[in-house]
Amino acid sequence: MGLKNCPECGKLFVSGTIPMCPACYEQEEKDEMKIVEYLREKNKASMEEIHEATGVKERTIFRMIKAGRFMGISDISYPCEVCGTLIFGGRMCDKCNTDFLEQVKKSNLDRAAKVQIESDKNRGAGMYSRERDRYR
Ligand SMILES: [Zn+2]
Ligand SMILES: [Zn+2]
Repeated sequence: MGLKNCPECGKLFVSGTIPMCPACYEQEEKDEMKIVEYLREKNKASMEEIHEATGVKERTIFRMIKAGRFMGISDISYPCEVCGTLIFGGRMCDKCNTDFLEQVKKSNLDRAAKVQIESDKNRGAGMYSRERDRYR
């Protein structure tokens, strides 16, 4: 319990069981109803389609998807945080997720190599100079 800024409108409110101010919470419940209504007629929908059909802010829809509010009603796709490919779960598409894990692995295994890759990238010619080295 305590005073918090509402993540939606920025007003101060007493935080308790709900994560935002009562006015925004009420609005969000209405928004959620609208989306659920819309999804009832669909097996699949993208975040963009929902936004266009209901007028609910994409940020709000996204938050609801993450909270699992529409689970079991419909498969909702939304863009991967990295490349924008439409995905149905998590934060990134499979490809970016794999890339990300690879990067983490690499940086753990060999920090020096990663620094090298970064500086190559900054020069903008890393790939090509390495290719040349290989065939020399
Ligand atoms: Zn608010
Ligand atoms: Zn991606």
